[in-house]
Amino acid sequence: MDWSPIKKNPSSWRIQPNLIDYHKACADFSWDDVQNELDGLPDGRGLNIAYEAVDRHVKNGEGEKTALRWLGKGGQIKNFTYADLEEQTNRFANVLRLLKIGKGERVFSLSGRIPELYFAILGTLKNTSVFCPLFSAFGPEPIAQRLERGDARVLVTSERLYRKKVAKLRSSLPQLEYVLLTDSDADQADNVLSLPRLLADASPTFTIPPTDPEDMALLHFTSGTTGKPKGAVHVHNAVLTHYLTGKYVLDLHPEDIFWCTADCGWVTGTSYGIIAPLVHGVTNLVDEADFEAERWCRTLAEQQVNVWYTAPTAIRMLMRSGLKPHEKFDLSQLRLVHSVGEPLNPEAVIWGEEALGLPIHDNWWQTETGGIMIANYAAMEIRPGSMGRPLPGIEAAIVHQIAEGKVELEEQADCEGELALKVGWPSMFRGYLHDDERYRKCFVDDWYITGDLAQRDADGYFWFIGRADDIIKTSGHMVGPFEVESALMEHPAVAEVGVIGKPEPMIGELVKAFVALQSGFEPSEPLKLELLGFARKKLGSAVAPKEIEFTDNLPKTRSGKIMRRLLKARELGLPEGDTSTLED
Ligand code: ATP
Ligand code: MG
Repeated sequence: MDWSPIKKNPSSWRIQPNLIDYHKACADFSWDDVQNELDGLPDGRGLNIAYEAVDRHVKNGEGEKTALRWLGKGGQIKNFTYADLEEQTNRFANVLRLLKIGKGERVFSLSGRIPELYFAILGTLKNTSVFCPLFSAFGPEPIAQRLERGDARVLVTSERLYRKKVAKLRSSLPQLEYVLLTDSDADQADNVLSLPRLLADASPTFTIPPTDPEDMALLHFTSGTTGKPKGAVHVHNAVLTHYLTGKYVLDLHPEDIFWCTADCGWVTGTSYGIIAPLVHGVTNLVDEADFEAERWCRTLAEQQVNVWYTAPTAIRMLMRSGLKPHEKFDLSQLRLVHSVGEPLNPEAVIWGEEALGLPIHDNWWQTETGGIMIANYAAMEIRPGSMGRPLPGIEAAIVHQIAEGKVELEEQADCEGELALKVGWPSMFRGYLHDDERYRKCFVDDWYITGDLAQRDADGYFWFIGRADDIIKTSGHMVGPFEVESALMEHPAVAEVGVIGKPEPMIGELVKAFVALQSGFEPSEPLKLELLGFARKKLGSAVAPKEIEFTDNLPKTRSGKIMRRLLKARELGLPEGDTSTLED
């Protein structure tokens, strides 16, 4: 397999991609210039995400353009123009005002991807209240925990989800004043109200109150891959990062049709499933249904998607399905494919070239960073297996914590250390809700320490090694699970891998791989030996796994990330810890 950099020739593009000259963009960069590309609230009243995403386009004469194209589970399609969206979000903001829900107060959702969810998020931001989206497949306990920890005053949900998951817990949530049902035509009680009725009765006009860029806007819980999910606080100023990454990373142009497959319950589904595309005035596709390989490929073709943002877990499922989308569907409109959430194995980047007709661009960020920080850009060569280079305006470094409160920057190329970001970018989280100490511990000197380990090469590309918690110490070597997983992924029998360190007195930890096989392959002792040998040849005996176990499915978060801590706990018979985000 050829993993040499993939060169891209901008002149061959149908649309000239943004960010042609990376170094110039970095050198000339100023966040003030980014702010000037946005409008700000009229009369200098501040900066509000929802205004930039919706009202600004109506004011600038784009009201009739399709903002949201919603694909329902049953095959129905609904289009909402920017003017429709302005009206519906105004109505929702007026509903909150009527219910006396004010600035900074929390509105939660527990909902599938339906249009009302989008009205609610943007309407809440207009009202300067704070939105916290929850993934609808959570069970009652994780829902109650988050509603309580997040001080929820309003919950937007469906009748079925309310009855099944929330109604019984309501007495233990005294702060939760109103439940707004998205699919009930009549109120059910004084505090269980019909959202369609409220929206219909509300005024279609709303003046956004003054909004300080530092006002809290969104609360997002992390994926829970390494432990108990944390509630990351974000402010309206984050829209600067959303705008900039929409331009440089996703390369959005106003005529684009864009599809982000993430659910709004995760930060990607909000930052890039709503805010960034709408701020750029594109047509944003929303798919209510869950992953299904063939339907997703058909959607890309039929909806003429130009830019697609998805995740390694979906790409691996597509790879596993054996589909060759490029041969079966007309993907000629697709211009750019990006992936986030987990390391993207080089194998998957190359698969994209063959199966989609385009390589897949990896990018890196976290719930805490609020937006993409490191990326393989449209107009630049892709280095398969690398997360890419920092966004202009973002200073990323490899650091070593040398003493309490002190970091040393790694100046050498190709040296491993902690990935850190210089504080002060607009979408940086402003706190972990109710956990100031934990927040403070994330910062050393002027650096935010991300908890991930990485290397930077001589050209400034960053390479993910692993989460600090997942690093394996074996016979004096530090082994990142990603390296081992990527090597095994190259074998045709392997569909997915999770690698852990298993305590072993002689060598510290032993590298163990859990392997899910491609369809058509059966677990067997000879195959196990073949894989052990295959990995040893690629990685050398110090790094290669010593044990392999076949498994049908790896434990994953509901956002699709392999939970190595669970593989390890199960292997060692230890308590599993917080499993609130574990996939069923
Ligand atoms: P928790 O913090 O609760 O354990 P989490 O870290 O998985 O959960 P997110 O904020 O959703 O929660 O995920 C961010 C993390 O995902 C990053 O810190 C990194 O470990 C991983 N990640 C995201 N994108 C990439 C990427 N392109 N390559 C490698 N890892 C990535
Ligand atoms: Mg994390």
